[in-house]
Amino acid sequence: GEALAVSARVAPLGSRLVLLLVEDLTEARRIEAVRRDFVANVSHELKTPVGALSLLSEAVMDASDDPEAVHRFAGRMQIEATRLTNLVQELIDLSRVQNDHPMEDAEPVSVDDLVAEAVDRCRHQANTKQITMATGAAPDLHIFGNRGQLAAALGNLVENAVNYSPARTRVGIAGRRIAAPGGNLIEISVTDQGIGIPERDRERIFERFYRVDPARSRATGGTGLGLSIVKHVAASHGGEVTVWSAEGQGSTFTLRLPEAVVGREGRAHASNDP
Ligand code: ADP
Repeated sequence: GEALAVSARVAPLGSRLVLLLVEDLTEARRIEAVRRDFVANVSHELKTPVGALSLLSEAVMDASDDPEAVHRFAGRMQIEATRLTNLVQELIDLSRVQNDHPMEDAEPVSVDDLVAEAVDRCRHQANTKQITMATGAAPDLHIFGNRGQLAAALGNLVENAVNYSPARTRVGIAGRRIAAPGGNLIEISVTDQGIGIPERDRERIFERFYRVDPARSRATGGTGLGLSIVKHVAASHGGEVTVWSAEGQGSTFTLRLPEAVVGREGRAHASNDP
């Protein structure tokens, strides 16, 4: 009688354990698949510009008595080299944000500083396209986080806004404080009047290497890694990134991150971490 009672008590526990194990295996398999895809994608993205460079250098050799053609091919080689450089830089950024513990050297980071840095990063391209960058000062807003990672996140959003907008449009960057039950959040939104994002793609744009229009993205030097970096930084800071968009009208990306507050003892910390 005793043994039976015990096994009856153990049985439901056991089946739950088996279920957990199965879930674990499925999760492990999913992660493994993501990793395999990632390596395949990186290899493909590296192969494309390397292949083009190799063909172009052959073309240059064949055209050595035609200076105009040499010039044209060299120009295209430069574009491919830039693409390679961007890709390698974003891979470095991605591995950095994945491996670093951002909150280990978290500090109050001024929103005005982040915005100024992001605008600087795109100034050249914005000028070329005559895009107006509209920013408002928010001197009292501070996020608690890793300065480099936050700069990379906002920089990517502003870069995309400029990249995916036609000439003579406006990109707006605004910061504000919003009260939330767990502590104040700082919200930074980046609004463009660009091509917008079709509804069916809106979830997936945050995946690594996902691009709505690979040809267009590639032409602007895009790698498809930017938004996955933004998402990773937001999540590791206990925040989030969301998107609103209307096709043909524009998009707004919004980062929500914990506000930095200075405690009574003079030490800064996140508003949601007393
Ligand atoms: P990419 O290097 O291609 O810009 P991202 O990860 O930054 O990669 O973005 C993924 C895709 O999301 C882009 O290829 C583009 O199709 C779309 N996208 C991102 N930002 C915008 C935007 N502001 N307006 C329109 N499309 C955008």
